[in-house]
Amino acid sequence: MTETIPRPRGAKAADGVTTAGPPLICSPLRIEARAARRGLRDTQDAPAVIRTGYGTTRATQAAGALSYRSFGQLIIMGVGAGLSADLSPGDLVVGTDVDGVACASAPLLAAELRRAGLSARTGRITTVDHLIRRGERAALAADGALAADMESAPLAAAAGGRPIAVIRAISDTPNHPLAGIVSGGLAALRSLRAAAPVAQRWAAACGTHQVLLAGPRSFCAGVERAIEIVERVLERQGEPVYVRKQIVHNTRVVGDLESRGAIFVDELDQVPDGATVVFSAHGVSPAVRHEASRRGLAVIDATCPLVSKVHAEARRFAADGYTVALIGHAGHEEVEGTLGEAPDSTILVQRPADVAAMQPRDGERVAFLMQTTLSVDEAAEVSGALRERFPGVRAPGSDDICYATTNRQAAVRAVAADSDLVLVAGSANSSNSVRLVETCERAGTQAHLIDGAADIQLDWLTGVSTIGLTAGASAPPAVVEEIISALAGLGPLSVSERVTTTESIRFGLPKEVRQ
Ligand code: SF4
Repeated sequence: MTETIPRPRGAKAADGVTTAGPPLICSPLRIEARAARRGLRDTQDAPAVIRTGYGTTRATQAAGALSYRSFGQLIIMGVGAGLSADLSPGDLVVGTDVDGVACASAPLLAAELRRAGLSARTGRITTVDHLIRRGERAALAADGALAADMESAPLAAAAGGRPIAVIRAISDTPNHPLAGIVSGGLAALRSLRAAAPVAQRWAAACGTHQVLLAGPRSFCAGVERAIEIVERVLERQGEPVYVRKQIVHNTRVVGDLESRGAIFVDELDQVPDGATVVFSAHGVSPAVRHEASRRGLAVIDATCPLVSKVHAEARRFAADGYTVALIGHAGHEEVEGTLGEAPDSTILVQRPADVAAMQPRDGERVAFLMQTTLSVDEAAEVSGALRERFPGVRAPGSDDICYATTNRQAAVRAVAADSDLVLVAGSANSSNSVRLVETCERAGTQAHLIDGAADIQLDWLTGVSTIGLTAGASAPPAVVEEIISALAGLGPLSVSERVTTTESIRFGLPKEVRQ
């Protein structure tokens, strides 16, 4: 399936417009143009800087002249008025929208500015035909704008479908009005100069891109179930709802549930007596269950049924007198929970060398289990070492690495082969997301783990044409959409999906939250 992402709202490609050429920086005033020019790196692809004149009339005239000029990307850089009290002189506002012209890559540019040590936010920029009057800021802010200027809108309209970025350095704010404009203006000019090399990197990252989406990606059945459990408890009991550990390993999901009243704690001693506590999708050890019972806490268990299956296997093998080699990563919550099922009979093995060091009670009675979110390739190496050392080793009845982990690794392998770069949406503590990065790297393709579009470093995209995109089992689908939307602001973007399998698994909810 191939789909072309629509161009940003208001950014129609004009007939006959030449989109090739160097990037162009338009700055209204001479001092603004000078600040931008001084910050630029002297490279072959350095943007040209032109002064377009002060005010809407001159900006409109300059925009007309731009239709006769060849340029590849348009960057508008100048000083502007801040409309929010939490802005300070020298802060940068990167326009997401300039009076109807969308700048879809603003989150990428603002994040790059922040990584460069600048204070940068995204927001709507509005253009007015006069200096902001007393009392006018509040009305413009109420209309959704973060900054105002007198030139950006007519200039932005001249982009003609090319990638566009608008950076306004704040000189005055509600708390620092025009009376302080000299010091505020100097702070703004310093920020403009510092922002110029970042704008240059943004232009270098622009171009025609193809996104290859891996399918399946994003939420698995266990994650959907765990999130729904917390949502239902919040609905029924109201806030706060205590959750032991992160319900799933994703900062977006955790942040969203926190904003709705969930309180994530590391241990049960942070949960008040008599409260309800939800156990996360990664599961807990019996010791945690006993402690919750001793404290009289009401427990709702969001442990993924596929993790519970591994726990049951650990208990069964241990009861039959087997030493259990648990293939997994030390310190991961799921591994701690599984180890706790039969602590005297279970040995954690992370790599083949750990197998060589194992000292089971009886070499004839060894079994192995796996963390559900391992790399299929890595786990096969360790299980291979176990089979070699203990030929009679018992394996789990069915694969412990879950369907979602296996499917996402196969899917990303299929896109990595044809990608210059793979972006994996997921949080750093998400085991299955980290394994997706490793899967790409094993296939010889560079990959980066990102929580969202703002984590994309512009240098990664320079010279890249095909971008593989996937998401770990705990990363929301909306993050993938956010990333595609931001990439669409860097130039023509086509998106196709490569589906290696489809998933229909659903898990039932625990009785405490069923209707
Ligand atoms: S990744 Fe697998 S084990 Fe983990 S919650 Fe999803 S389905 Fe369950």
